[in-house]
Amino acid sequence: MSYCVNCGVELDASAKSCPLCNTPVLNPKEIKREGIVPPFPKEKAQVEEIQRADFGWLVSMVCLATAVTCGLLNWLAFRGSLWSLAVIGACVVLWVMLVPAVIYHKWSPYLYLLFDGAAVVLYLYLIARMVESYEWFQGLGVPLVLCTCAIMELLTFAVRVFPKGILARGLYVFTALALLCVGFEVIIDLFRDVPVRLSWSAVVLTVCSIVDIAIITMLSRRRLRNEVRRRLHF
Ligand SMILES: [Zn+2]
Repeated sequence: MSYCVNCGVELDASAKSCPLCNTPVLNPKEIKREGIVPPFPKEKAQVEEIQRADFGWLVSMVCLATAVTCGLLNWLAFRGSLWSLAVIGACVVLWVMLVPAVIYHKWSPYLYLLFDGAAVVLYLYLIARMVESYEWFQGLGVPLVLCTCAIMELLTFAVRVFPKGILARGLYVFTALALLCVGFEVIIDLFRDVPVRLSWSAVVLTVCSIVDIAIITMLSRRRLRNEVRRRLHF
């Protein structure tokens, strides 16, 4: 069964043109045989993908230009403080987070996380230099970044090694979130030099534990799991 491409009317198998609007009928299978130039491209073509290297180059140039311009402005015009360090640090962090992952996409994800952590530590160090106060950097900034990095590494490991699927991943993410909050509160208490006591992180921990238990129950009962899958369409 064929239809006119112009008006949609049903066509007879032998029709050479549409009886209603007179549009010529071309059967793609017969074009070769009859030597007609087809009204569509002969070969499949694909839109060219953006080259990873080009994207990396663009991000690098934007970061570099921003950092250099702000550095020069700070040096030549607005000399009040070392404000440009904040911008330069942000450019470095952005570059480290985007470019290696795009260009060297075959590297291990654990390595990217290490680079990201190092870039954030460097950024915090630049801010510490800017405000000339290092105590918070050592006592709070670095431990918080280390804690986040360690938990993100664990999460990456879990996602790559343990069972996949959206429910299992939810389990890993909620567990990581609870660990992260507990870690943060302990580090903040230590920095403030007060006895370590969980308060807000205990709330997060409780909520995450309830969600985790619900997910584990769903994962362990096949019927329940399938029902959830069906209802949430995944
Ligand atoms: Zn027609």
